Amino acid sequence: MTVAAVIVAGGSGLRAGGEKPKQYQLIGGRPVIWWTLKAFLGHPGVAHVQPVIGEGHEEMFAESVAGLDVPLPVIGGSTRQDSCRIGVEAVERHDPTKVLIHDAARPFVSQDLISHVIAWLERFPAVIPGMPVAETLKYAPGGVVSRTVDRAGIWTAQTPQGFTYQAILAAHRRAQAEATANLTDDASVAEHAGIVISMIPGRHENRKLTTAEDIDIANRDMTARKLENLPDIRVGQGIDIHPFDTGDAVTLCGVAIPFTHRLQGHSDADVAMHALTDAILGAIGEGDIGTHFPPSDPQWKGAPSRIFLARAMELIEAKGGLIANVDITILAEAPKIAPHVPAMRAILAPLLRIDPSRIAIKATTMEKLGAIGRREGIMASATATVRLP
Ligand code: MG
Repeated sequence: MTVAAVIVAGGSGLRAGGEKPKQYQLIGGRPVIWWTLKAFLGHPGVAHVQPVIGEGHEEMFAESVAGLDVPLPVIGGSTRQDSCRIGVEAVERHDPTKVLIHDAARPFVSQDLISHVIAWLERFPAVIPGMPVAETLKYAPGGVVSRTVDRAGIWTAQTPQGFTYQAILAAHRRAQAEATANLTDDASVAEHAGIVISMIPGRHENRKLTTAEDIDIANRDMTARKLENLPDIRVGQGIDIHPFDTGDAVTLCGVAIPFTHRLQGHSDADVAMHALTDAILGAIGEGDIGTHFPPSDPQWKGAPSRIFLARAMELIEAKGGLIANVDITILAEAPKIAPHVPAMRAILAPLLRIDPSRIAIKATTMEKLGAIGRREGIMASATATVRLP
């Protein structure tokens, strides 16, 4: 049996608010879709994973799956049903016997639920997980209750929904040929084609993230889940200083701030990101920036300092660890830092794979004392808390 998985991420997800569709918003420091893809890429029973994304989302997708060995996505259609058909057709070249179709917005799917759906496909042409409805159901058109709905035998449908490949491919093509639209899940397409569908217990945690509140709660859950298995708490600190040179902007925490000077240094001289990188490397006992990026090496000339931070993150992730929080203080008479802090946190959050609420960036002047007080340069200090297994 060859199992393919189609991960449907075509929606614009506007109900969740935010600047990006919900499947690209961060939970536990990674985009929702990263967690979802990782669950299927890491499952030994799944041979091929095919993402289906919305038109115009190509760049967001590419950024979101950094570090995952995921095939190129296909572009979905205008409805979920169209997107699923396109995804199912896209895996035909792998000649799968079974296919799982899963919402990208369900990142908490467990390995054992995927295994259960695959196992039940040995017996049924279609298998869907779901939850028996526990709450009383009311029919309330216009917000006024007109009657209570009998919930006996009523289930909500989750994903991954599993199908015999040729059966669901034929069912999708038939629905398309008949112009039967707005079938909201693949099981509806299968039902429409008269395929027998087995219902198996899903998982409460495998909920679909829809609203901004769902994303907030998922962010806390995913972070807590990661932290709970990392008992070794490390703290590191880093300090850096760079002198001013003639120029028109200083780069601090990745943000280029227009100024009367620039900072002098071999890379982009982002003193704050250097202090932060040293703090992280210090916490894991891996030397400092100079150990990994010798200043004598010409290839780092003018390099963006985020590559130093990315290297430190690779070292943490290789140890199975993560950052719990960072705290940065920038010492400068000028320019004003505070207006740029939100942009700085937005740059650091995805690099550090943590929520912006775990990143503090403060600034202070030196009351005109010493070299910094004489406006000869900018200094930064940082601490990082790292959790290791
Ligand atoms: Mg430096």
